Amino acid sequence: MTMLIISLLLTTNYVDSREVLLNQIASVIELSQEEMMVDSIFEELKADAARQQEPWNPWVNQFFPVVREEYMGTDLYRFLLAIPKGAVLHVHPSAMGDYFALFDSVSGRNDCYFNPSTESFRLFRDSIPDDAWLSVPQLLTSAPDHAAMRDSLIDYIVIDESDEFREDIWAEFESIFGRVHGLLADPDAGTHYIYQAFYNYAVNENVQHIELRSHTPSAGSVEFYQGIVDSLAGQGIDITLRIVYCDSRYLYPGETVDGFRNRITESMKSAADLMAQYPGIVVGADVYSEEDKGATAYYMAPMMEEAREYSMAEYGFELPLYLHDGESSFPTGVQDSPVSLTGPYPGSVNNNMIDAYLLGAERVGHGIELVKLPELASMYASEGIHLEICPISNQVLGYVPDLRNHPAILLMRSGIRISINPDDPAIFGSGGVTCDFVVAVLAWDLSLADLKCLIMNSIEDAAMTEEEKAELMDSWEIRWDDFINSCLVERDMERDTRSM
Ligand SMILES: [Zn+2]
Repeated sequence: MTMLIISLLLTTNYVDSREVLLNQIASVIELSQEEMMVDSIFEELKADAARQQEPWNPWVNQFFPVVREEYMGTDLYRFLLAIPKGAVLHVHPSAMGDYFALFDSVSGRNDCYFNPSTESFRLFRDSIPDDAWLSVPQLLTSAPDHAAMRDSLIDYIVIDESDEFREDIWAEFESIFGRVHGLLADPDAGTHYIYQAFYNYAVNENVQHIELRSHTPSAGSVEFYQGIVDSLAGQGIDITLRIVYCDSRYLYPGETVDGFRNRITESMKSAADLMAQYPGIVVGADVYSEEDKGATAYYMAPMMEEAREYSMAEYGFELPLYLHDGESSFPTGVQDSPVSLTGPYPGSVNNNMIDAYLLGAERVGHGIELVKLPELASMYASEGIHLEICPISNQVLGYVPDLRNHPAILLMRSGIRISINPDDPAIFGSGGVTCDFVVAVLAWDLSLADLKCLIMNSIEDAAMTEEEKAELMDSWEIRWDDFINSCLVERDMERDTRSM
């Protein structure tokens, strides 16, 4: 009604100009008649989720673990769970799944132990633990409150509400990988966990393609992940896989600077070797870990260039780079970048987006710093360099406390190609990519056309040949059309029920 009154007070000219302007700044994708009807349903779901929140303190302004269950309880979550999502382009395999489910799958095993001094878990199989280890089944059965004990143990491997104001959330985040390693290293539990994770993406979350950021993978681990995908295919569950070879940008304790340079160079060369051995599965290289405590892209550029020369000389291809960069709150600078690796921090500015561009990165993981360099951002836009945006990760790790202010929306509206990704959902408690879609929709008021655009970006910028991408797009389009039709059928059935 308010809108109608305002419209009556305005000249037709103004209303028409406003309509033109809105179309200019909106998503570049046009929706079909059917999609526009589903867009109306989608807008109702967004409004319903908004009504469940305090307008002055919405969920997207709260630490994700505090409001995780609220997100998951919405009809908007159920809608976005079912929507065909194309490709997940940025996820780390050991943290790609659900640690709640992992804990429940092993906590009844007699060889499942917890070490309070290291806060870590382990499955002992045939070996005997020493006194430092406590039996997890006994801890659970002897506790007066079983559920509270379960929660307190899971708190060691999933970031929870109590972690919100930690001084160094990255230290806690990285410790979790060590605490959970003794569970994932068990052949049965580790295989079951990764299988369940792929199954969840493919079946429950309607993801068609996954690209893993794997830490220095061996031939055996490439075959392990491909074997999981093949076994799903054997059951009629289709999901395709690519692997990016990663190493850490940290100078490890006791590692010399020369040792570091040598490790990065050799890792990048190993990425090329593995690409040659597994063409079409291993697709490139990356370095990760907390950027502002590790080597800058500028520092590592000579190592990456050397590896690229090697891959060209040895195999005749240039090693593609999918770089974790621009995940920082440091200011960007247009002066020379610091190159020291020996200080407590390499520098106080983060210029990695500049060097990711110069290094010719195919895509950049995060890239949120790009918003501070608009001229450079326009180059990313015009050259179609894709940013793999991970909203929950960016919030939990402290870069963007209020997701309404996440740079991704500005970058997206400026023509930069982005996609939505989960990064390490097991540790954040999101268990997959759907929660990232929910927070992005609510924080940035995305339309169905925006969502379709982001999903199509993920397919178009996957590490695949043009033919493979066309095939992936075709199979996604069939699922998308089915999804749109099923939404309309469900709406009609609800209308019929109401009118009976
Ligand atoms: Zn990552």
